[in-house]
Amino acid sequence: MSTYDFDLFVIGGGSGGVRCARIAATHGARVGVAEERFWGGTCVNVGCVPKKIMVQAAEYGIWAEEAGAFGWQDMRKGAHRWPVLKQARDAEVERLSAIYGRLLGNAGATAFDAHARFIDAHTLDVGGKRVTAERIVIATGGHALRPDIPGAELGMISDDLFTLEDLPKRVAVVGGGYIALEFASLLDGLGAAVELMYRQDLPLRGFDGDIRAAMKDALDARGITQHTGHEVTALEKTAEGIRVSTTRGLHRTVDAVIFATGRLPNTRGLNLEAADIVPGRLGAIPVDAQQTTRQPHIFALGDVTDQMNLTPVATAQGHALADTLFGHNPRTASLANVPTAVFTIPPAATVGLSEEEAIQKGPLDIYLTRFTPMRHTISKLPRKTLMKLVVARDTQRVVGAHMIGDDAAEMMQGIAIAIVAGATKQDFDRTIGIHPTAAEEFVTLRSITRQVG
Ligand SMILES: Cc1cc2nc3c(=O)[nH]c(=O)nc-3n(C[C@H](O)[C@H](O)[C@H](O)COP(=O)(O)OP(=O)(O)OC[C@H]3O[C@@H](n4cnc5c(N)ncnc54)[C@H](O)[C@@H]3O)c2cc1C
Repeated sequence: MSTYDFDLFVIGGGSGGVRCARIAATHGARVGVAEERFWGGTCVNVGCVPKKIMVQAAEYGIWAEEAGAFGWQDMRKGAHRWPVLKQARDAEVERLSAIYGRLLGNAGATAFDAHARFIDAHTLDVGGKRVTAERIVIATGGHALRPDIPGAELGMISDDLFTLEDLPKRVAVVGGGYIALEFASLLDGLGAAVELMYRQDLPLRGFDGDIRAAMKDALDARGITQHTGHEVTALEKTAEGIRVSTTRGLHRTVDAVIFATGRLPNTRGLNLEAADIVPGRLGAIPVDAQQTTRQPHIFALGDVTDQMNLTPVATAQGHALADTLFGHNPRTASLANVPTAVFTIPPAATVGLSEEEAIQKGPLDIYLTRFTPMRHTISKLPRKTLMKLVVARDTQRVVGAHMIGDDAAEMMQGIAIAIVAGATKQDFDRTIGIHPTAAEEFVTLRSITRQVG
């Protein structure tokens, strides 16, 4: 047995850290893990989970609006009661956070409710206690960025949405990434007048161009005002509310401003110099495919490495690392073909390469369809679905699938399996659809919409 207090010490009890600690402990390692704020981390407490509950709340209102067209005479949309939603959401978050803590105890790991920082490369200060470990994992996640502009303190960051006691009536959401769009969408659905302000012409930088354009149209159709090409320069408190000014001379007065302008890795406060670890650009910890830092016994995973900031990526990395170190099963988590979704109303989802990425690798056949789903032909809600397959012409492999429309996230998980398995367009063609669904369109796209390259 080693002379260290622990075989493995994990800093951070979020998605990646808890998975790594739990699996390492079940492999028989003596594991310690420190969490300074909330077990379960960002995803459970101020990210995926509470956000999705709020999106679902917003969807009920929209379904109630549509229900009349299906004959439900008395199901009209009433006023939304925010405190009821807040209480139900917070109770669920508390339940899940407690489960995360229990999972660690059940696996035999020692949990510390404390901040951890390096004293040297094998020693940590954990809430004032000196702890040594043979191996250390940094899984400290990230935090929302507040822009450096006058009056920035008047705005909120994403965490603050979950502390609001009531729905702000007029909201400016600053940013064009997925978190900004999701927040704009859910607040709009719950009844706020939402204005979205972002720098580019289209939202969702990095996503497929057709999805970006369709998303802009979808948010327009919901009545969300989008100020494109605007950078917010200042916030100011006035008698009427918060005055938001932009580079292009726009001034809007709202009740609340939410900045969703990016996130930074949590590396400050770790005293990384003591372990001779040098963070890279914007504070991210550089690692190789095995999650190893420049110190062979110190690893980093999840958002603190700023590679692909998604919960399933952090957990996959944590699990692979624990299996490698203690489970006699050396493996890495692949970051190729990671599916992802944007939980707007309607949602978008994607896996593999965008058309813009794929064309760099060779000529493409693009299959694309736009249609009004059956539900909305009845409800008359102006909501279109777009589905797109990006196919490498030479190999006929489907290298990317993209969708905006109801249930996009649920569908894309299955499509991702096909793409990870290397399915060709012919494999899609010989798959029989489920009728009547929107999903069947993915296997009935027969004619090439355009050839590129
Ligand atoms: C609003 C929002 C919505 C999101 N929606 C989605 C989504 O729909 N799907 C998805 O896949 N991802 C989503 N994400 C991203 C997802 O939450 C993160 O990718 C994921 O939580 C990363 O896990 P992690 O373990 O790397 O870090 P985290 O979950 O952030 O955990 C890190 C933990 O470390 C703790 N910590 C930090 N420093 C120390 C220290 N020195 N000592 C002790 N503890 C410390 C922190 O308190 C935190 O609990 C969302 C994020 C946000 C902000």
